[in-house]
Amino acid sequence: MNSKTQAFLKDKFNISDNLLKVAVSCEKDLHEAYASIDSVSEYNQLKILKAMQNEGLSESHFGGTTGYGYNDRGREVLEAIYSEVFECEDSLVRSQIVSGTHAVALCLYGVLRPGDELLSVTGSPYDTLAEVIGLRGRGNGSLKELGVGYRQVELLSDGSIDYEGIKEAVNANTRMVIVQKSRGYSWRNALKVDDIAGIVKCVKSKNQDTVVMVDNCYGEFVEESEPTGVGADLAAGSLIKNPGGGLCRTGGYVAGKEKYVSMAACRLTAPGIGKEGGATLGLTGQFCQGLFLAPRVVAESLKAAVFCARIMSRLGFEVSPKPEEKRGDVVQAVRFESEEQLVAFCQGIQMGAPVDSFVVPQPWEMPGYENKVIMAAGTFVQGSSIEQSCDAPIKHPFTAYVQGGLTLEYARTGIIVAAQNLINKGLLTI
Ligand SMILES: *Cc1c(COP(=O)(O)O)cnc(C)c1O
Repeated sequence: MNSKTQAFLKDKFNISDNLLKVAVSCEKDLHEAYASIDSVSEYNQLKILKAMQNEGLSESHFGGTTGYGYNDRGREVLEAIYSEVFECEDSLVRSQIVSGTHAVALCLYGVLRPGDELLSVTGSPYDTLAEVIGLRGRGNGSLKELGVGYRQVELLSDGSIDYEGIKEAVNANTRMVIVQKSRGYSWRNALKVDDIAGIVKCVKSKNQDTVVMVDNCYGEFVEESEPTGVGADLAAGSLIKNPGGGLCRTGGYVAGKEKYVSMAACRLTAPGIGKEGGATLGLTGQFCQGLFLAPRVVAESLKAAVFCARIMSRLGFEVSPKPEEKRGDVVQAVRFESEEQLVAFCQGIQMGAPVDSFVVPQPWEMPGYENKVIMAAGTFVQGSSIEQSCDAPIKHPFTAYVQGGLTLEYARTGIIVAAQNLINKGLLTI
């Protein structure tokens, strides 16, 4: 942060001298962390560039189809590029996938049949999947209502994987194992791709035929490889998170073994149609460009997360991961002492955003979530969480999950503005 920027923050954003001093000193400590983030993005960028060249991506692919969307060459090329980048046989990259939850649900409903069992090996799955599995809600066609069983193996108390527990739990009836790479809304570290390789090996040693599926939301391009490159049968995620590069305005993806991707596609469209239908309506260029930008945007998000960890821990709050810890996702958790602090921080993130900065977010009952949730998302794309955003379920201990940032510069400002909001409200003194 140069002196001109500092003066601007002080004069135009009303940041106090004390807070500015802390922010500047945090920034100075982070050169090494930033360099290691850049080195991952450099590699991933080349991987994507090469895949685009190998598949012969051309401007003529960006036109798109209408109606049924049969024989959409651009869509086929886009999906081939995804398959190459995710080191797998096949993929489904579609605007008709409405969210990450939908992409994961396609994998579950696509593969599981009545009498089968689904096993989560990373404890409770992400909040929105509870209704899909049938842990919450009734009469909406959950897996449970279709006769699919469910069990979960908890993570160990230090957040690590319980390999022994997994070995005991997998049996002949375990059709599918779900692994959540990201921490989601929980105080545990994200898994690394290496951990996922270990899970695959462990599961397959008990049952060769068990399908290992990874909820890869927030995990893409944080490391130099993806779960499908180390043996996971399926991975799924949202295009308004990491792989959309901040550019995609909707959509999701499923990547993995051809057989299972096809099953997910039959669930998205219909048996007999599978991947063959689905008009692209001119979105293919955006999906390709978004993927192309994704490593850079993920890197900016990671830098913002590291800055957030550094400054918030300097200000006395507990953070996870710690600033210097290796990361497996883009999420930064910050723990507050009261609901007031939590809400003021989230509102401060909104104040620092480029869009709807004048809006004051409030906790509300959000579809798919159990507790009230407060969400700050002053984003160009509604709810996009690869843009800077902050979510917090209103429950003890009061934890905010901050993620995203298209550029480090504005995301860092958002965090500083949020900390200043705590100070202004008398909830923090420095
Ligand atoms: C965001 C997220 C989801 C759900 O994605 P939506 O797009 O919000 O439906 C599922 N799992 C994890 C780990 C996530 O981070």
